[in-house]
Amino acid sequence: MEGYGIRPSLQRMAVMAYLMEHRTHPTADEIFSALAPAIPTLSRTTVYNTVSMLAARGAILALDLEAGQMHYDGDTSPHAHFLCTCCGHIYDIVPEAEGWRQLLSAAPPPPGARVTDTQLNYKGLCARCNEQHDHKNN
Ligand SMILES: [Zn+2]
Ligand SMILES: [Zn+2]
Repeated sequence: MEGYGIRPSLQRMAVMAYLMEHRTHPTADEIFSALAPAIPTLSRTTVYNTVSMLAARGAILALDLEAGQMHYDGDTSPHAHFLCTCCGHIYDIVPEAEGWRQLLSAAPPPPGARVTDTQLNYKGLCARCNEQHDHKNN
């Protein structure tokens, strides 16, 4: 955490540790609900401020998958996401390094621009929800 120029505090460390352990891409609210029982001094505002600060410093990813609520990811390695709009599950998609480079070079940024964030997000129905969907329609 110090490597990112972030002063560690008990609450910040707890948020960071939660994200490293839970690769479920939680929202700030979900992190707060999970940690609050163990850390009575923790406030919702602290969690919100901590995740946005960690994301701004590049220590975690902020995923812009759903309007009005960010999901956070302790895994900052390049990977894409699939959000199931039915069950809400967010799947990690880890591309091959070569495929990822090809994808980015197929859609390059404007000349001279500096890219600070790249996100590849899919949305739809996961296999399980899609199957249930099909059964309902038959
Ligand atoms: Zn689903
Ligand atoms: Zn992820």
